[in-house]
Amino acid sequence: MTELDRIVQEIADEMAARSDRGTVAHYIPELAKVDPAGFGLVVIDADGHIAAAGDADTAFSIQSISKVFTLTLALGKIGDRLWQRVGREPSGSPFNSIVQLEFERGIPRNPFINAGAIAVTDVILSGHQPREALGEILRFMRFLTDDPSIAIDEAVAASEQRTGFRNAALANYMKSFGVLDNPVDYTLGVYFHHCAIAMSCRQLALAGRYLAHCGRNPVTGHSVVSPGRARRINAVMLTCGHYDGSGEFAYRVGLPGKSGVGGGVLAIAPGKASIAAWSPGLDASGNSHLGRVALEALSKRMGWSIFGV
Ligand code: GLU
Repeated sequence: MTELDRIVQEIADEMAARSDRGTVAHYIPELAKVDPAGFGLVVIDADGHIAAAGDADTAFSIQSISKVFTLTLALGKIGDRLWQRVGREPSGSPFNSIVQLEFERGIPRNPFINAGAIAVTDVILSGHQPREALGEILRFMRFLTDDPSIAIDEAVAASEQRTGFRNAALANYMKSFGVLDNPVDYTLGVYFHHCAIAMSCRQLALAGRYLAHCGRNPVTGHSVVSPGRARRINAVMLTCGHYDGSGEFAYRVGLPGKSGVGGGVLAIAPGKASIAAWSPGLDASGNSHLGRVALEALSKRMGWSIFGV
């Protein structure tokens, strides 16, 4: 057992004993059914060693963590022209806020708030049917993890499609400014479905390896993006990955990270590790409460904060 294995197990044991677990997301009915007692933590280091503890293999709804991968795909498709459609500044607003969109004339602040992610999805969709665009996103996730079993949880997608009025408002509003090229229903359909991809902490940590290692999978040597692009995606994760809780996450954890309302968090220790944590209970900003607590402990005990020990 390595020191990393021991620390990961220790943190999982500590989290299992905590009673402050946050509240599961209720605005997507299917997510409200998830048991708040779950907790998983997986860390994959530069040598490919996997330290896993708790519910490391339980699949959960990755929700907004999918936005990291759709951002990667959209940058691959249209390069830096993407930044004409979406900004890269922290929003300081809740994940589904509509207020900024009005005075910024339909250009979302960053690719990780819902409006920004919907605009990014629209870029991936252009030139394709929704089914093909989803196929492309799923193929990318399966390639990154080398796991063909990764799939969309159709019940979660349908649940959000029925109740996603706020996202429909954001998309229609952007469409009125000409920011979306495709029919709003198509773009939203692809967005809801990629948010509904189900993955475990182990699969998510495998998928994040390219961001920890200059755009490459360090084990297979496969290049996913250039080193410069990986660095920039990490920068956007650090500044915007936790909505209006991004400052708090940087302050406490000190790593680029992206959360999802399913309770997952993908965090990157550049040059060192790809990390996935999951605990379904959320804090007031919609970020996993114990996910953040666990990552804070991990970053501290391993000395991994990018701001120093
Ligand atoms: N599908 C969710 C929504 O659009 C994603 C939000 C999140 O994970 O933060 O509301």
